[in-house]
Amino acid sequence: MAKKAVIIYGPPGSGKGTQANLLAWTKSFIHFDTGKYLESVVRDPELQNKPEIKEQRQLFDSGRLLDPPFVLKVVSEKTKQIAKSGYSIVFSGSPRTMFEAFGEGKEKGLVRILEMEYGRENLYFIFIDIPPEEAIGRNKTRRVCSVCHLGILYSDETHNHKTCPICGGNLRIRTVDNPEVLSTRIEEYEKRTAPILAELKSRNYLIIKINGKLAPHKVFEELEKKLNF
Ligand SMILES: [Zn+2]
Repeated sequence: MAKKAVIIYGPPGSGKGTQANLLAWTKSFIHFDTGKYLESVVRDPELQNKPEIKEQRQLFDSGRLLDPPFVLKVVSEKTKQIAKSGYSIVFSGSPRTMFEAFGEGKEKGLVRILEMEYGRENLYFIFIDIPPEEAIGRNKTRRVCSVCHLGILYSDETHNHKTCPICGGNLRIRTVDNPEVLSTRIEEYEKRTAPILAELKSRNYLIIKINGKLAPHKVFEELEKKLNF
């Protein structure tokens, strides 16, 4: 089967990270978490003498966005490396900016790079559709294992659990999910992601919408169908 490149978008709390993990665990995709990867690059002790890295690290530590050209360079290099290694790839919530997605002038954006590496027919854009109020509710009740980062869905059975069913680590509310931070994330998401989806449509890419109100395993069933598994 041809290798695929999948980009999953959706508001915070829509479960896009979970869906990307399910593709990684059951279909051998590489889930390229670009945020985590960028953090590891700017914090790499061996790179700290590079002025460019120092600059980006300062931005990172002050909680600001890294420069889009830096992000695009680092992310596209890694993406090409993953593609060359023969794996399917899935992104959750990135590329985050128009520049990262579409580039500028001679600089190719990630969409074009994926198209060249995987072929346009193997490139899928997924939108997990869930009303913001529902996403907020989920974010409030979701707990995450402090050790393995497993997310625990809220249910009558699980809401009293204090420890992770997989590794026994303590469960905690994700710090980024406090209400203020969350509303900023939702605003950011609307400001930055909506234009990317609009631009993709205007370039005749198909955006596959999946109902995000369903349980994650149901959403995944839909996703598998849409990806022709
Ligand atoms: Zn755990």
